[in-house]
Amino acid sequence: VLAAGGVAALAEVAGDVQRAAGAAERLLELLDARPTITAPSAPQTLPGRIEGAIGIHGVRFAYPNRPDTPALDGIDLQIRPGERVALVGPSGAGKSTLLHLLLRFYDPQSGYLTLDGIDLRGLDPHTLRTQLGLVSQEPVLFSGSAADNIRYGNPEASLQQVREAARDANALSFIEALPHGFETPLGPGGLQLSGGQRQRLAIARALLRDPRVLLLDEATSALDAESERVVQEALDRLMQGRTSLVIAHRLATVVAADRLLVFDQGRLIASGSHASLLESSALYRQLASLQFSATAPIRETK
Ligand code: ATP
Repeated sequence: VLAAGGVAALAEVAGDVQRAAGAAERLLELLDARPTITAPSAPQTLPGRIEGAIGIHGVRFAYPNRPDTPALDGIDLQIRPGERVALVGPSGAGKSTLLHLLLRFYDPQSGYLTLDGIDLRGLDPHTLRTQLGLVSQEPVLFSGSAADNIRYGNPEASLQQVREAARDANALSFIEALPHGFETPLGPGGLQLSGGQRQRLAIARALLRDPRVLLLDEATSALDAESERVVQEALDRLMQGRTSLVIAHRLATVVAADRLLVFDQGRLIASGSHASLLESSALYRQLASLQFSATAPIRETK
């Protein structure tokens, strides 16, 4: 589960933080004040549209308060543009930590990470985060209308674009059924949404941002089967054509992934398809039987 400490950066990844409600802005100031990463003096710019290739080179990382216990160790990994990768492993294996490093909440003590071959340490953290889209288990809703909350992904978007994103996120019908449709106030002080509705709103937001790289932390809490199906369908649409790293908790996700990466105690211990890992990895077999919720229907494709 992604640490709450990164809420502001999460907000930044979810949209344009400059437009965020006051609380999120204050959190961002705190985050920017964190000494854990150093912004480069002459940051490299990224081309407008990146490919979305990710490289992880000999990465070792321990959290500052536990310097002797690496959360990740000896990680080497190349992820192709457009590849859909599922991260699996027991609790504490280092899955969220890998996303933290990509978001540059922290830098590794050794090794380095790249985006399109560019060392993340050479990029301005804000520029980096505008290239990454994040959909977490508990998406943050800001006070403002449903439209504002989606537009947070791209403040320039027209209402038509907001509607299209909502439609593709399977959120249109529930938004239209709200008391004031897209103008219904949400979030703190406004209408509270169900878990599945919040997730679809976050997906709409991400669709509008159109990032090349998606980081997803799949919900562990079970939605009812119908919500699960509509969320899954929206996520599939969102992942289409983008590099996606998903902390996977659903069988449907691991089955549909191009590649699964099995983490255990900070190490990448196995990789392959669901079927091949069932054959080759005892830990994976155990995870598959214990951890993956099969509520969502398994796709026939791929
Ligand atoms: P889960 O599925 O439970 O979210 P995970 O595979 O994502 O687990 P991580 O959250 O990456 O695992 O944790 C890897 C290790 O780092 C664990 O030992 C965890 O206790 C530790 N850890 C995670 N976050 C922090 C933090 N902010 N400070 C110190 N240690 C942390």
